[in-house]
Amino acid sequence: MSKTKGYAAPTAKAPLAPYLFERREPREHDVVIEIKYCGVCHSDIHQARGEWDTFLPESIFPMVPGHEIAGVVTAVAGKVTKYKVGDKVGVGCFVDSCRTCASCQKNLEQYCEVKAIWTYNGRDNDNVPTYGGYSEKIVVDENYVLRIPENLPLDAAAPLLCAGITLYSPLKHWNAGPGKKVAIIGMGGLGHMGVKLAHALEAEVTVLSQSLKKQADGKRLGADHFYATSDPETFTQLASSFDLIVNTVSADMDWNQYFSLLKLDGTMVVVGVPEKNIPVGAMPLLVRRRSLAGSAIGGIKETQEMLDFCGKHGIASDIEVIPIQKVNEAYERVAGAEE
Ligand code: ZN
Ligand code: ZN
Repeated sequence: MSKTKGYAAPTAKAPLAPYLFERREPREHDVVIEIKYCGVCHSDIHQARGEWDTFLPESIFPMVPGHEIAGVVTAVAGKVTKYKVGDKVGVGCFVDSCRTCASCQKNLEQYCEVKAIWTYNGRDNDNVPTYGGYSEKIVVDENYVLRIPENLPLDAAAPLLCAGITLYSPLKHWNAGPGKKVAIIGMGGLGHMGVKLAHALEAEVTVLSQSLKKQADGKRLGADHFYATSDPETFTQLASSFDLIVNTVSADMDWNQYFSLLKLDGTMVVVGVPEKNIPVGAMPLLVRRRSLAGSAIGGIKETQEMLDFCGKHGIASDIEVIPIQKVNEAYERVAGAEE
């Protein structure tokens, strides 16, 4: 066991504070990673505040959040073959899974039917709580560690491990590419990655944002078009025009109005988690054989594919770097931000 410094929420809704805890002794396939940067994801805030109690079996406190981890390998155990000391690596939302169920066998460990072990607020196979990336180091099985391309800076690469793969996976699954019209709803942490990735995949990209305030940013990131959803004209102009809409917004909205923007066989994919249930009319869906779907992060293989794709295209996240001491202030800002 080794003492590790981190930042934890002592109880739901309490501010995060310094916390000393134990990381396990490396098992034979484990990699020890010195964490250089960790992204602040909106789901960190939901979990640290106990807001996902309805989705999760339990909320485990003290909780060390953080699942957008970027760092450097400082030690490898005897049977590790994939990584060596000094490698730039990342860890995303989960650190293990059953490895044998149908989902795991399809490289879709995030949908493990037995038990995906979440990077924090989970329990490992010894029933010990897992602690995330708001800490100085982490010990992870090499099969659940990702390689970060040499040309990507570790700080801006960190959010790729959650925000990046959350957008990449549905874009790939629903075939965003040349000749496809893709809309991204929202231009926050998730949405801005969707714009960059869909553009790099050579789809025609439209941002649907509340106002035109972020239009210049959207265009800089690769959007071909930018529309304000506060303007009713937008829905007339864009009726039945998209193959794929990725919805990154968790605020309330008129879902049926957005379905009307999908063309025949178009799909809207939900990647954010709205607080309330989604009210859906059947008619807007069936008139053009439209689909409403959901997607959650990605498996290890696809996450590595996404990182390599980002390396090849020089894509990383737009970030603001803060010291961990300011994490509570950052939480207030993220929780209050419009998408
Ligand atoms: Zn996340
Ligand atoms: Zn499994």
